[in-house]
Amino acid sequence: MSNESTNTQNSIAYLQGKFLPLAEANVNIMTHSFMYGTAVFEGIRGYWNSEHEQMYIFRLREHFERMLDSMKIMHLETKLSADDLCNITVELLRQNNPKGDMYVRPSAYKCGQRVGPGLENNPTDICIFTVPFGNYFKAQEGLKVMVSSWRRIEDNAIPARAKIVGAYVNTALAKTDAALAGYDDCIMLSENGHVSEGSAMNIFMVKNGQLITTSTTENILEGITRGTIIEIAEQELGIKTLCRSIDRSELYTADELFFTGTGAQIAPCIEVDRRVIGTGKAGTLSLKIQDVYLDICRGVNQKYTNWLTPVYPTQKGRSLAQTTPIHALGGCI
Ligand code: PMP
Repeated sequence: MSNESTNTQNSIAYLQGKFLPLAEANVNIMTHSFMYGTAVFEGIRGYWNSEHEQMYIFRLREHFERMLDSMKIMHLETKLSADDLCNITVELLRQNNPKGDMYVRPSAYKCGQRVGPGLENNPTDICIFTVPFGNYFKAQEGLKVMVSSWRRIEDNAIPARAKIVGAYVNTALAKTDAALAGYDDCIMLSENGHVSEGSAMNIFMVKNGQLITTSTTENILEGITRGTIIEIAEQELGIKTLCRSIDRSELYTADELFFTGTGAQIAPCIEVDRRVIGTGKAGTLSLKIQDVYLDICRGVNQKYTNWLTPVYPTQKGRSLAQTTPIHALGGCI
């Protein structure tokens, strides 16, 4: 990960129901999820607003709702609700007291210490750590990407809509090959040959003024950023997103392409397989969407503050009760 700051000295983590120094937050080598990848996780961003002296966590509840869905698929059980998990996260960030952008990484993992891959009769624990976090990609002027020769995992093999730790071997193989070949990232196809998503990002294409993204049935993680972009493109720019299959060759002739993700935020792609996309510079619509998105995340655009959870006490108090089901978001046509 190309973020510059992973300083975790003196950081507090959450493990087995307790807050403790990160240096002591360790698991045994016989832990099931270490041996078999039987954990799920989320990646969440906290945005520091220096004017407000406040940290805003973006769509916290939606991340935990998705984590609970991933847990259901993986037979990971918990008594904690999405609200409980939000409260624990806010408390953890308060204990760490950051004054800069942060990444929050909760995981639910099979913590039984036993040999054999079964998920049944196997206890679950939840852990969380936080690290300072900057830009995910170095190339700020636009990404040069390749179509990976690795295919995206199929729903009937390892469901991509769950954020399953073991499934990220698929991502790691694709991303590593792209990096070793000199690319910034890659685009993965499904076994059926259609575009699925980036290594850890969803993908949007602009063609003749139409905004298009891949359908949820293309073995994608149903990104919270993806849902957010579908909604703000409609609300702020009056553009409805078309969700459909995308062919590989459509990527080459797109006017604009961009990735979306918590880490990547809105990341324009300017080359695919050595073919220049559009003008070879980040597209106008991509940059407009990026602007609107970042202003919302940082609490500058006040219209969407119901998507933000302030970490530090506010005069109005903190409300965690709001939620917008990500699947019901926006005008995807
Ligand atoms: N696809 C994959 C495989 C991912 O790991 C991520 C990052 N969580 C995304 C898409 C984007 O999802 P989100 O916008 O919720 O971060």
